[in-house]
Amino acid sequence: MIKITKMNKDDFEKLKKNAQNSKKLNKDFFKKLRKKKYKNLDETVHELHEDFFSEFSCLDCANCCKTLGPRLLQKDIERLAVHLKMKESKFIEQYLRIDEDNDYVFKSMPCPFLDAENYCIVYASRPKACKEFPHTNQKRFYQLLNETLLNTEICPAVYEITEKLRDIYK
Ligand code: SF4
Ligand code: SF4
Repeated sequence: MIKITKMNKDDFEKLKKNAQNSKKLNKDFFKKLRKKKYKNLDETVHELHEDFFSEFSCLDCANCCKTLGPRLLQKDIERLAVHLKMKESKFIEQYLRIDEDNDYVFKSMPCPFLDAENYCIVYASRPKACKEFPHTNQKRFYQLLNETLLNTEICPAVYEITEKLRDIYK
C-alpha cells in the first residue's frame, strides 16, 4: 500500500516501483477481465474510485500534470486559445508540439498550466483528456485496460484501485 497523503518525490518513486512489481500480476489479471467481461465491473471500479477520492485530493499529487501530459484535440486548442485570449496559431506556437503519433501535446512537462500549488490555471477549459483521466469513473472499463496498466505507475488512484480489483475478482 502506498501512503495516502501529500505525495512527494519518494512516494512517486515508490509508487512506480510497486506498480512495476505488480505489472506481471496485473497483466494476467487484465487478460482474465477481458475474457470474463464481468457485468458488475464498471460498478465496482466506480465504487473504488469514489472511495479513493473521498480520502485523497489530486491537489496532493498532480503527477499526471507533471509527467504524462494530455493529447490536445482541435476543440481543446480552440477552447484554450479563447480562455487565454490568444490567437489559435499563437497558442500552438507557444505551447504545443506534434508528437510521434502526430498528435498535439504540450512542448514540455510539467504542464505549463500547472501552478506551484498544483492547481490547473485553465481548469474550466482543460483538455478532454485531462477531464477523463484517470478513467476509473468512465464506462466500459474493460476497454481501458491497456492505459490502466500504464497508469498504475503514474497515478496512485489507478494503482490502488487495480490492487483492490485483483483482490475482489481473484
Ligand atoms: S488523477 Fe491520479 S495522477 Fe492525477 S493528480 Fe489525481 S491522483 Fe494524481
Ligand atoms: S491542462 Fe490542467 S489538468 Fe491538464 S495537464 Fe495541464 S494542469 Fe493538468
